[in-house]
Amino acid sequence: MHWRWRGFCCDSGENLINDKKTIAVIGSGTMGNGIAHVAALSGYLVFLVDIKKEFLDKAANTISANLLKQLDKGLISKSQKKDALNSINMTTNITDIANADLVIEAVPENADIKNEIFSNLDDICGSATILASNTSSISIAKLASKTNRPDKVIGMHFMNPVPIMKLVEVVIGPETSSLTKNIIFDIAKQMNKIPIECNDYPGFVSNRILMPMINEGILCLEQGVATKESIDQIMTLGMAHPMGPLRLADLIGLDICLDIMNVLFDGFEDEKYKPSELLENMVKKGNLGRKSGKGFYNY
Ligand code: NAD
Repeated sequence: MHWRWRGFCCDSGENLINDKKTIAVIGSGTMGNGIAHVAALSGYLVFLVDIKKEFLDKAANTISANLLKQLDKGLISKSQKKDALNSINMTTNITDIANADLVIEAVPENADIKNEIFSNLDDICGSATILASNTSSISIAKLASKTNRPDKVIGMHFMNPVPIMKLVEVVIGPETSSLTKNIIFDIAKQMNKIPIECNDYPGFVSNRILMPMINEGILCLEQGVATKESIDQIMTLGMAHPMGPLRLADLIGLDICLDIMNVLFDGFEDEKYKPSELLENMVKKGNLGRKSGKGFYNY
């Protein structure tokens, strides 16, 4: 068999020869590399999939740097770091993940891309594989309808930065089985996270509340209500938020914020969810926040 797997520390398929449960993560960006990091630290065999090797190399560097930070803080041991790195395998060929027990999709917040991936995963993966999406807002029912296993499709919405944030918002689709839900709760707990359940509505709970606040912060800037620093300080000092809405938008990614606002706007058909022009223009210019080096602030 032709193995495409590449462990961080070895170039063979030897990681496959054990009975660890396997989690495959599709998309190695902001969220995907964090999910892979946490899954590997929690004892899973991990496969990380992206469309280009350079994206996977960037993710490998990010995961190494973040594990090193955890080691320096005394949160993990040297052997945990080494074992985690050895458990992560990279591929650009999605068909390589046929044997995964769980797939967590973390590609951009675009329904067309996600639909196609769910349809492909349904063909590629074994019938017992659970298909989860890290989507922030897109309907789990629609993703499930692209498969022949809607009972095994679920939302597993991790928060950014994944290695630090405790919550996993578990989104239950209309056909998600209670067995699937129970397995996902167990896996989230094994990953040292706290799973909280909600139903399948646009934006679920987290982003239905968070994104309109961020959009409103951007509107305050657009309308000259205050400077970006003042807007952020008013929300950190006045509301005890750990980060202001504009800094948070930069952390999340302005493209992701815009995509989520559009899902809310389309889903509820309500003007109150209309994305601000400034947000739309910044995304058009490629000023996406931290990941592009420039957003409301420079990085
Ligand atoms: P990102 O843009 O940082 O990363 C997406 C990755 O997916 C990129 O590396 C891209 O190359 C890859 N990709 C695109 N098409 C692909 C394909 N067909 N196959 C494999 N890989 C592909 O995005 P992100 O911020 O990590 O967001 C990913 C998902 O997580 C989105 O659904 C988003 O809504 C959700 N999410 C984001 C945040 C956040 O703060 N950024 C928080 C929670 C959830």
